[in-house]
Amino acid sequence: GLSPEAYRCKHEITVTGHDVPPPFTSFEATGFPSEILREVLNAGFSAPTPIQAQSWPITLQSRDIVAVAKTGSGKTLGYLIPGFIHLKRCHNNSQMGPTVLVLSPTRELATQIQDEAVKFGKSSRISCTCLYGGAPKGPQLRDIERGTDIVVATPGRLNDILEMRKISLHQVSYLVLDEADRMLDMGFEPQIRKIVKEVPARRQTLMFTATWPREVRKIASDLLVNPVQVNIGNVDE
Ligand code: ADP
Ligand code: MG
Repeated sequence: GLSPEAYRCKHEITVTGHDVPPPFTSFEATGFPSEILREVLNAGFSAPTPIQAQSWPITLQSRDIVAVAKTGSGKTLGYLIPGFIHLKRCHNNSQMGPTVLVLSPTRELATQIQDEAVKFGKSSRISCTCLYGGAPKGPQLRDIERGTDIVVATPGRLNDILEMRKISLHQVSYLVLDEADRMLDMGFEPQIRKIVKEVPARRQTLMFTATWPREVRKIASDLLVNPVQVNIGNVDE
């Protein structure tokens, strides 16, 4: 196998932060529980993508992270699998509210994330609920009441449900802002900030984005603590 430096160079990975762990260049190197490894091998994946290889060891150290990589680079499993492992460590009661919260800009993307969470989390007995607008609230509220480990939500609908006091985020300890640049482009910043106020400060925060403009840097500096940053390729500002 390649040395960490050679792997980073080959895949145009740049990292900023102190004591950044070396990338996992194979699935065997991840040390993931066997039921999770089985799922990725069943999916036909032969190796982690570069963003997965470099972000997994950082996230598994429970550190905050900013990951900048273009669309299609495998960011979803980049945060979902460490989220599954975080859930196993927490032993929270899902009836008291979710432990993992993923914010996503659109219904379509939120649904895709949920599909991936269900597919890869089923053998770990992980439950996931999707909250988005343009659909009746009733079934979504029933899913929350039933108990759920993971909530994937668009900021608008989650805020509505928070205002109705139909969900508690006091148990969330793993917060993901997915497609952060798009969420800000769509004007979700006020909703995101209101939601984050409901999440305990003692948490791990992950930000995934395809670009790294000033507005995204600003919200990252407000919401993340000493993040490690991982960029793949040339990063558009
Ligand atoms: P992004 O969020 O960066 O746009 P996705 O997470 O949607 O990318 O992943 C794009 C596609 O790559 C999905 O179909 C996903 O299942 C697949 N994928 C994820 N990880 C791997 C991997 N390690 N090897 C091959 N394909 C993968
Ligand atoms: Mg994505």
